[in-house]
Formats: sequence, structure tokens, C-alpha cells
Amino acid sequence: MRTIAVLNQKGGVGKTTTVANVAAALSLTGVRTLVIDLDPQAHLTIHLGADSETDAPGVYDVLTGSADIGSAAIPVRENLWVLGASINLVGAESELVNEVGREIILRKALDHIRGQYDYVLIDCPPSLGLLTLNALAAVTEVLIPVQPHFLALQGFSRLLQTIALVQSRINPALQVTAIVMCMFDSRTSLSSEVREDIDKFLRSARDSDAPWSKATIVPVHIRRNIKLAEAPSYGKTIFEYEPTCNGAIDYMAMADWLLTGTLQQPHSLSAHADHAPSEPPPHTETEEHEG
Ligand code: ADP
Ligand code: MG
Repeated sequence: MRTIAVLNQKGGVGKTTTVANVAAALSLTGVRTLVIDLDPQAHLTIHLGADSETDAPGVYDVLTGSADIGSAAIPVRENLWVLGASINLVGAESELVNEVGREIILRKALDHIRGQYDYVLIDCPPSLGLLTLNALAAVTEVLIPVQPHFLALQGFSRLLQTIALVQSRINPALQVTAIVMCMFDSRTSLSSEVREDIDKFLRSARDSDAPWSKATIVPVHIRRNIKLAEAPSYGKTIFEYEPTCNGAIDYMAMADWLLTGTLQQPHSLSAHADHAPSEPPPHTETEEHEG
């Protein structure tokens, strides 16, 4: 079971869009995928057409111990399950503040379902609080979406410090495996400048023992595509809403890359001809992969 937290404490960079559509792409290729919505705004839950206002148990109930993860994860498509968020998740951080072991509740819950899914993707809230710590304690991989923006890397060092702290104190297996450029526009120099900066930063960390020393930039850049912004309001993934648009092509190629470590689709390669594919993602050898 491969576990990935999609994290950037900045809002609006493409976390939820990435989780929804990468998960949809994985499930379409037959990979059993669970997504966990850790953001009280419940955008992922709503995007996948699940109800965030029911009394049915979700991630809040799993964190507070009133439901088990196996029954709270609901099937939303073939091969796709969601452990949904609801507004009461807002209170979870303060409700759990005196709980012993509060950072590892989600990890313990995932231990109960190991083997039932091939991929678990966690959509993190735009903060570095207790919910995000639970995500970081529960996974082996972090995927950081970045939106090319002149302040794109502002806050980056705090994000990485938090990851390093969690790695050294609670989760030695934690690695930043990839950074994905979202809302990429190859016509603007800003997009390539931000990419260059990240590339330089990652190269400078190559020989260090930092948890991002093996990270790569996902060789598929998710292009800005209005269809990706429209699909959520219909409760549809991009593959249901507009299966031939650039957004669908990019997220399918990204899922392929996650699965195989290489870029398989020639069309996505040529669409991204302005940058060569980098090396495959560092696979977490410590994890068994069922299925
Ligand atoms: P986050 O979860 O990091 O807050 P979202 O995934 O919700 O970010 O994306 C922020 C906004 O940008 C949403 O309205 C989303 O629909 C839109 N969006 C995300 N990715 C793209 C893209 N590649 N092209 C166009 N719009 C996008
Ligand atoms: Mg979000």
C-alpha cells in the first residue's frame, strides 16, 4: 500500500484538484485507491460527489475514535473510496489537544486497512496543524503541489522544516518524493523560473540526509485548464467531465508516472516538450506493494 500526503500549507495551489484527479486516474487503471479528505472545507469530498453534510461517519469520527476506518470509507466509483470530511473537522484539532498520541491516530487507523488498498492519497488542509501532522505521521511519501507564482516558495522552508521534524521524531520513513507544478503556463517565464528555482533547490539537497534529498519534480506539469476548475461543481472528476482535455491528459500521465516511474504517453511528452523528463521517482522499497 503506497501512502501519499498531498501537502502545501498555501491554499489554492492545486492540492485538492490533484488528489481528486490523480486518484480518479489511478482507479480507472484498476488500482484500488482510497482518498482521505483532511480539509474541513470538504472540497475533495464534494468534488467526488460524496455528501459532506450527512451524519454518516467520516474522517472526524475516525480521529475521535467513534468510527473505524473500514466502515467510514465509502465507495464513490469503481476502485475509488473516500474517507470524507465534514465541517465538524474544524473542531477536531482542539478536541484532540489533550489526547495522548494525537499525532498518530490516523497512522494507527491506516494500520487496520493495510492491504485493502493499493494507494492512499491524503488531501491536507492549508495549515501545518494537528490534522496535517496526522497525515505526515501516517504516510511514507509527501507530494507538494506548487503553483508558479511570484511568492510560490514563500513558506516553503517552514513546510520542509515541519516535514523534517515529523521524520526525525515520529515517522523515520517519511520522504518528500515529488513536487508537482500545477496551473503551469509554459508561455510565461515565471512558470519556468519557479521550476528552475525548485530544481536548483532540490539539486543542492541531493547529497544531504534531508527527507527531500531524493525528491524530483513530476515530469508532467499540470497545465492551467479551465475544465479542471469547472468539473468540481458538477461533482465530476476530469475524466467524467471532459476526458479529452489537457487536464485529463496531464493527470492521467501523472498517475502513469506514479505507477511506473516513467512517462508513457508520447502526447503528454510532446505537450511538455519544453522540459525533459527527469529521473523516475524514488520508490519506497520498505513498503510492500500489493496488487
Ligand atoms: P488547494 O486544494 O491547494 O486549495 P485547489 O485544488 O482547490 O487548491 O485549486 C484552487 C483553485 O484552482 C480551484 O478553484 C481549482 O478548481 C483551480 N485549479 C486547480 N488546478 C487548476 C488547473 N490546472 N487549471 C485551472 N484551474 C485549476
Ligand atoms: Mg484543497
